[in-house]
Amino acid sequence: NVQQPAGDQLPRYVRVNTLKTTVEDAVDYLKRDGFTYLGQAARLEDFTLKGKVFVRDLHLPELLVFSHKTDFHDHFLYKAGHIILQDKASCLPAYLLNPPPGSQVIDACAAPGNKTSHLAAIMKNKGRLFAFDLDAKRLATMSTLLLRAGVTCQQLANQDFLKVDPDSPQYKDVEFILLDPSCSGSGMVCLRDNTSADQEKEQARLASLASFQLRCLNHGLRFPRLKRLVYSTCSVHRQENEDVVAACLQQNPNFRLVPLLAQWPERGLEPLSQCLRASTTKTRTHGFFVALLEKHREAGNVKQ
Ligand code: SAM
Repeated sequence: NVQQPAGDQLPRYVRVNTLKTTVEDAVDYLKRDGFTYLGQAARLEDFTLKGKVFVRDLHLPELLVFSHKTDFHDHFLYKAGHIILQDKASCLPAYLLNPPPGSQVIDACAAPGNKTSHLAAIMKNKGRLFAFDLDAKRLATMSTLLLRAGVTCQQLANQDFLKVDPDSPQYKDVEFILLDPSCSGSGMVCLRDNTSADQEKEQARLASLASFQLRCLNHGLRFPRLKRLVYSTCSVHRQENEDVVAACLQQNPNFRLVPLLAQWPERGLEPLSQCLRASTTKTRTHGFFVALLEKHREAGNVKQ
């Protein structure tokens, strides 16, 4: 049994919001504010930080890493939307989807919107970002966060993604989808429950979540011009991750997995090693899973 570092021992990750500033300017500001900058990390051990020091992440270019005790909630850069407090693993989906400026993108289950604002930054606010969420309250919070982050390319809708019509003319140019549906949250260190309460109930809950996740995934692949879809969860359960993706690929043979970040230390469970996993021990993040699907032929066309 591997000893997991507690959630409050994970580094504090800060994503620089390039809609409002640059990494260089944020670093300069923090240095003037009394932080010591140690440069780019070369390995995960460099994340063992103490006091007011920070490094730049080794995988994600816009990510800064601080000691776990650093609190930015009252900091100017946070209040002004120049930095977003977001776990490293949760920065992977938008980074890997990488929609170019000017593209049409859907964030299917978007609130509270950290990945939406990351997508908007990658798109440089150019193009259109359709963001859906079922929960009106979470969507209202999201509006405030996006305003603070300077996002302008979004179109928010309080709507069930499963009821969004892929053949509606307004989505005819959608080429990229980010799907981060509701999940068990079993990867979130703070939510981890080590008591094995009612196994039967837990299995039923996972089965129901997995069925919802697969329906969302299949629905996403129905958008006619779709090129790439990134699927992510903050679950550690195979049932919500590799199993959902494998079932979806079986039902949609015109899509395949894109091999992700060769240098990333934790892969999807076999045989889905193209996907990424994240954990407190191997990546020093919350538990997470990401898969990137791309269309490699039109449906009904058997030639590759
Ligand atoms: N992507 C978000 C972020 O990075 O801030 C987090 C999304 S959270 C894991 C899942 C979200 O899916 C919740 O806000 C939930 O309200 C929403 N949701 C659940 N079922 C949905 C559905 N059928 N259609 C749209 N949104 C849904």
